[in-house]
Amino acid sequence: MFESQLSPFRGTDNCVRLVGHRGARGIMPENTILGFEWTLRMGVDALEFDVMITRDGVPVIVHDHHLNAATARGEDGIWLSEPGPAISDLTFKELQQFDVGGLNLQSDYGMRFPEQAFLNKLRVPSLDQLLDLVARPEFSHVRLMLEIKSAPSDTNPALEREKVVRAVVNSVRKFGIQPRTVLHSFDWEILQICQAQASDMPSSYLSNVPDQPEDVADHALGLGKFGGQYASAPDAVAQMGGRIWAPHHSDVTRDVVAHAKSLGLIVATWTVNEIDDICRVTKCGVDAIVTDYPARVQRELAKRNMVWRDDPSSHPADLSPAV
Ligand code: MG
Repeated sequence: MFESQLSPFRGTDNCVRLVGHRGARGIMPENTILGFEWTLRMGVDALEFDVMITRDGVPVIVHDHHLNAATARGEDGIWLSEPGPAISDLTFKELQQFDVGGLNLQSDYGMRFPEQAFLNKLRVPSLDQLLDLVARPEFSHVRLMLEIKSAPSDTNPALEREKVVRAVVNSVRKFGIQPRTVLHSFDWEILQICQAQASDMPSSYLSNVPDQPEDVADHALGLGKFGGQYASAPDAVAQMGGRIWAPHHSDVTRDVVAHAKSLGLIVATWTVNEIDDICRVTKCGVDAIVTDYPARVQRELAKRNMVWRDDPSSHPADLSPAV
């Protein structure tokens, strides 16, 4: 079951799957259609991205609950001052006023990605816009790791979770992309709803190392809430019906990966950007690497005579300099 969605995330001895984080955040503006298309054209076959809902019920692709002041410019071309408006307080049309094509390199966040392209007039896309892109015949091989974000401030979180899952699932089904979509979240209650409402799509359980304030909130929605009842994180994921476990890379060891695989899980670790970390998780036997820098992972795999896709054209020889 779920082979069409899962096999592109399953590695082998000489294959580690490559997933573009928010497209390829290290080099292209995150969670934008241009960034996604560019990532696909560089030979990445799976995209990770974040979805939440506007005030008028449109699923949109954006990471933070409030517009990130380091990425969003108003109509005056100036970056927002903290805090930006909440996505859930804006209509889709209002959200389109903001340009998310360029990072403020003076900001802490912007300083993390000095190689990211600076572009103008890119907008927060709707989920439908990305689904429309990957519905094109040339992208029929592409898989989606669709992260659903819960809104922690909502007064009725159960109802809100139902609403966001329904909106997301309806969009995916409208485009017929459910055989290529994995539903992914830190909020494990959302994943339980996904498993009930969308039994035709597998779920991917995120976990993290909660040493930053924003990570604490994510942890509290998933492993922090449910993990105590189980022997380990992978045991929790397997017994809750997950098919992929998506741990932070610092949680990855050879033993825990082997244990997760023995439970039938796929291990897709994030967000692996540094060469040392790419090498380490590869040696630990992970199935998939979620990265802001897909080309780095491609190069490191090629050095080891490893691949990231089944297509023979992805053989490392393709990466040799042209003669
Ligand atoms: Mg994400």
